Amino acid sequence: MAGEYMRSSVHVHSKLCDGKNSLEEMAVLAWRAGLQTLGFSGHSHTPCDLEYCMSPARTAQYKGEIAKLKKQYEGKMDILYGLEWDLFSDDDPTAYDYFIGSVHYVRGPKTGRYYEIDWREADLAACIRDDFDGDGLAVVEAYFANVAKVAEKHPTILGHFDLIKKINAGNKFFDESDPRYAAAASSALMVAARNRCVLEVNTSSVYRGFREDFYPSEAILKEWLALSGNVVITADVHDAKALTFGYEEAAAQLKALGYSKVLVLGKGGFSSCPL
Ligand SMILES: [Zn+2]
Ligand SMILES: [Zn+2]
Repeated sequence: MAGEYMRSSVHVHSKLCDGKNSLEEMAVLAWRAGLQTLGFSGHSHTPCDLEYCMSPARTAQYKGEIAKLKKQYEGKMDILYGLEWDLFSDDDPTAYDYFIGSVHYVRGPKTGRYYEIDWREADLAACIRDDFDGDGLAVVEAYFANVAKVAEKHPTILGHFDLIKKINAGNKFFDESDPRYAAAASSALMVAARNRCVLEVNTSSVYRGFREDFYPSEAILKEWLALSGNVVITADVHDAKALTFGYEEAAAQLKALGYSKVLVLGKGGFSSCPL
């Protein structure tokens, strides 16, 4: 149904990881906003960095609370038990209703350190300096090689495909127009296409004020369309006010690029929604 994409938000964090609201608050607000599907996607337990992900105890709490909410909202709104699974996580993503496969780290080939590439500028700078001989584009290549590995795990949704650009506004760390950048993104995109991944158009970069463009960039979306790839719109919500932030802009952008449809995730899997 046209506009159906406005009624599904499936990349959603809560207080149990790095979000601002409880699962219950999210559910109340999603229902009031008229959503048909609310999919929670807490950050999977990832032993290399325990800063923002769910501990095993939190993961158990997450599971229990979502089971209760599913019952509470039965017949009113579909609640999905999902996970944002990181490449370096030790959780089993197939134990969930669906999972978003994401890369948040690059492992330094020299020091063995795991660098969070999307948060502190000092971390990305240290990664480039200490592990990649000052070559920012080499970090980009390592990042997209990790994205290809996630694509091979057949996630329900491949998360924020070009997250590596998040704190690179103004090309601070590397030049996004360099052919090496495009080549690295392209090879990960090929792997995603071979594995029939669904890419998310993720609007959080704009909501959170890091960028003026969404993930993925327009050049990547054009290439993905040429590969007959499918997309789903998400807001990578960390704050209940953002449940469908930027959805209409994302849909308009996709339409202008030549996309005729987006996929919408619901309790029965994906359905197709014309643009
Ligand atoms: Zn993420
Ligand atoms: Zn997320």
